[in-house]
Amino acid sequence: MIESISSKGIVLYNRNFREHDKLVKIFTEKSGKRMFFVKHATNSKLSPVIQPLVLADFLLKINDDGLSYIEDYHDVSSFQAINSDLFTMSYATYVAALADASLEDNRYDPALFAFLQKTLELMEQGLDYEVLTNIFEIQILSRFGVSLNFHECCFCHRVGLPFDFSFRFGGVLCPEHYQEDSYRACLHPNVVFLLDQFQAVEFQELEKISLNPELKKALRMVIDQIYEEYVGIHLKAKKFIDSLGDWGSILKEPE
Ligand SMILES: [Zn+2]
Repeated sequence: MIESISSKGIVLYNRNFREHDKLVKIFTEKSGKRMFFVKHATNSKLSPVIQPLVLADFLLKINDDGLSYIEDYHDVSSFQAINSDLFTMSYATYVAALADASLEDNRYDPALFAFLQKTLELMEQGLDYEVLTNIFEIQILSRFGVSLNFHECCFCHRVGLPFDFSFRFGGVLCPEHYQEDSYRACLHPNVVFLLDQFQAVEFQELEKISLNPELKKALRMVIDQIYEEYVGIHLKAKKFIDSLGDWGSILKEPE
């Protein structure tokens, strides 16, 4: 069945198809993630809107049994600030790749769409892209079927204590129950506190979050461990971010 719809969409990626055509993966608000066929892509009027991380209102022909088509578009936002900075762009690309990996094709998920759009908009506004990425990574865990408890001790259910994280129990331990897992993560309680905050953070509160470099590094490490342990995906975009860390300090302009 082919159906015409109008929907917001975020371009995830495109790739060449045959000699002159392209396949474009778009995460649409109303119809999930789908593959669109663009004939003679280079000369097409669609060429500016099939680039990764473009957000636009699309008029689409959705085909449930095969490739879909882009009929028209308006209100294009191409995230100029994100695209003009290698670091921000790498993190934005990774966040989009995570959304892609967490979602089956053709599955309607307007909440995830809104979350991705908002995250990109906040990166565009210049909010800390590393923190935004961490929040995205923590909140999207549920899409991978992972549910972790950063809020209350797995044993006594008390809250608000200097917790540590246990990979064995998929949750936190209070000081009285640290000994339940001799391989507990030995994280600074502030790191666990932030993971808990990130799981429930409201976007309005984000502008206030500012973290020092050591905390950010500790968060990066534990979130990598969490993804290794519970999710097990290895995205190219993430490897690129990891390599940025190595030569990033050379590239970054002195402040
Ligand atoms: Zn306890």
